[in-house]
Amino acid sequence: MCEIEYTFSGGCTPEEILKEQLEKHCPNDSYTMSLVGDDQEIAIEAINQGIDSHLQAVTFNNEPSFRQDSFEGNGKTYYGPSRLDLDTTNEGIVVLCRRLLEYWENCDCSEEEREDECKHETAYQLRSCILWTLGIEEI
Ligand SMILES: [Zn+2]
Repeated sequence: MCEIEYTFSGGCTPEEILKEQLEKHCPNDSYTMSLVGDDQEIAIEAINQGIDSHLQAVTFNNEPSFRQDSFEGNGKTYYGPSRLDLDTTNEGIVVLCRRLLEYWENCDCSEEEREDECKHETAYQLRSCILWTLGIEEI
């Protein structure tokens, strides 16, 4: 169980706090994730922005890679969902979390009446989950 050390509301976690928590929880400068489904898609979208207006990119210790779990049963092979494995640097996590928040903040899907298809909630939730593992609760 993760111990919550900070609570912030409305996506306002200061970047300095995030950096401090990363140094504490990820002293090896490595944060690993294995993502499926919508989480995977939103992460790819955030990563593929390349170098942004802040002149930053999501950086990795190892190249992101895909794999698929498989298991045997009743003489058949079953396949799980495609997984995206990420080994992100601490600085990369700061950039990724900022982009996920920007996605949520800048989304104008309600004006176009396609809120159901939109991933802004997924973006916000993925950010919240990452922060939570670092002792930060964003409500
Ligand atoms: Zn949206």
